[in-house]
Amino acid sequence: MEVGLESGIPTYSGGLGILAGDTLRSAADLGVSMVGVTLLHRKGYFRQRLDAQGNQRENPDAWNPEEILKPLDPQVAITIEGREVKLRAWRYEIQGLSGHQVPVYFLDTALPENSPWDQTLTDHLYGGDAHYRLCQEVVLGMGGIALLSALAPQDRIIYHMNEGHSALLTLSLLDSGSQSGVSPAPTEADVEAVRQQCVFTTHTPVPAGHDKFHWDLVSKVLGPEQADLLKASNCCFDGSLNMTYLALRFARYINGVAMRHSEISTGMFPDYPIDAITNGVHAVTWTSPPFADLFDRRIPEWRQDNFYLRYAVGIALYEIVEAHSQAKRALLAEVERQRGVRLPEHPLTIGFARRATAYKRPDLLFSDLERLRTMAQRVGPIQVIYGGKAHPRDEGGKEMIRRTFQAAAALGEAVRVVYLENYDMALGKLLCAGVDLWLNTPLRPQEASGTSGMKAALNGVPSLSVLDGWWVEGHVEHVTGWAIGDDSESPGDSFQDAASLYDKLERVILPLYYGKPESYAKVRRAAIALNGSFFNTQRMVSQYVTNAYSF
Ligand SMILES: *Cc1c(COP(=O)(O)O)cnc(C)c1O
Repeated sequence: MEVGLESGIPTYSGGLGILAGDTLRSAADLGVSMVGVTLLHRKGYFRQRLDAQGNQRENPDAWNPEEILKPLDPQVAITIEGREVKLRAWRYEIQGLSGHQVPVYFLDTALPENSPWDQTLTDHLYGGDAHYRLCQEVVLGMGGIALLSALAPQDRIIYHMNEGHSALLTLSLLDSGSQSGVSPAPTEADVEAVRQQCVFTTHTPVPAGHDKFHWDLVSKVLGPEQADLLKASNCCFDGSLNMTYLALRFARYINGVAMRHSEISTGMFPDYPIDAITNGVHAVTWTSPPFADLFDRRIPEWRQDNFYLRYAVGIALYEIVEAHSQAKRALLAEVERQRGVRLPEHPLTIGFARRATAYKRPDLLFSDLERLRTMAQRVGPIQVIYGGKAHPRDEGGKEMIRRTFQAAAALGEAVRVVYLENYDMALGKLLCAGVDLWLNTPLRPQEASGTSGMKAALNGVPSLSVLDGWWVEGHVEHVTGWAIGDDSESPGDSFQDAASLYDKLERVILPLYYGKPESYAKVRRAAIALNGSFFNTQRMVSQYVTNAYSF
């Protein structure tokens, strides 16, 4: 449903879309034969503006596909509520390192043949109500299959459902593969034929992340025949179609996005075998220019083969420190440009940027302002840079942004806190590389993987994070960064986590940063060598090829 290709194409909201883009980029680098299918989202997600109190205002982020993408010829039709809806696609080409191309098709219903309402179906990412969303998922799943068949009919295609949003594609496959046409009940053989073609990745243990549509709505949008087909496929519970169950039911391979996440998902869906392929990031995309230059000089093979980042252990510490200082200056220049605030270069600078939502607890750092003030005064100065959008209907997330502004006002000069507007890929790249410490405080076990800490690691920025998601695997205490709390199976506790966060900052990280800069630089270097070399999408896509896509 979303893909992060570049800042100028605002058809992503966060980690899920960025991961999709990074996956496609690495597939292009590796010469994997892959195409991406998404929606055009002419009005994007939204542009974020913040007033002086931290109230978020959302403006449409309209863009001109005409300037970046090529429209394709074939038009295909799908049926929504008994109406024929025409769609076409726009093509974006990702060029891999050796010239291999991976196209991305952006589906578009804004055609004059369609009703005015149908024309808006590919306007807003995650906008509108359940009805609008279900229609979008019909466009994505069923329209996607129709388009791919029209473009280049092929057998031996594997359909990788990146989250449940695209799961209606299984219905199209079932429909076209069924021996008896649209029969009231698919046979086991029909289901098995679809299963052999489908792979499903689940991305969140948070229940709100799993789409459900009321049965009456499904019947209305898809029509009674298709609805019966779904009903016969065991993916409807409590009067709703559950898109995750639809995908689970029709996938021959299922995975979560980190080891811990696959355990949690197995607990949620005990009837299905759920493997793990831990997420990564596209190393060349997320490495800041100063580190890319350094790696080009010292380990030139790193672009072709990210495992070479392991050899960052041989890079001199002063070179790592110098590259980081350059990245930090670039970030501070952006802070000054955007907020008019000139932050000094030396203080320990903490970064926190991700979707603003309650379970990520951006306010955990502000649990005890007095303690924060005191340690900044006694042990060494701290400054914090925030970023992140709240979904327009996530009131809890919006409250988190306001609280950050309140804390910033209360702390004043004692601990400088700035919140950057409109967190996007360009800002993410500057932020993850330019701070000294990447903070991550999700409430366990709700973080499936998280990827911004991986971007930070590539740039020699260690994490201070709750042991959830990828950090369970990437954390080596005092070597690649630091843990908040412990690794127990029990759910997180904000009181204990805050105490642990302050203890680590006050007793370990600040003394190291100010007292033993060389030791801090060693942590930077180990973050690159141990985590940059592994938590990348080159390794991840190779695992998908081996474990999920092979016939
Ligand atoms: C990397 C990135 C994310 C995802 O970060 P998480 O740590 O997974 O929450 C979200 N938004 C942007 C703009 C990013 O660059």
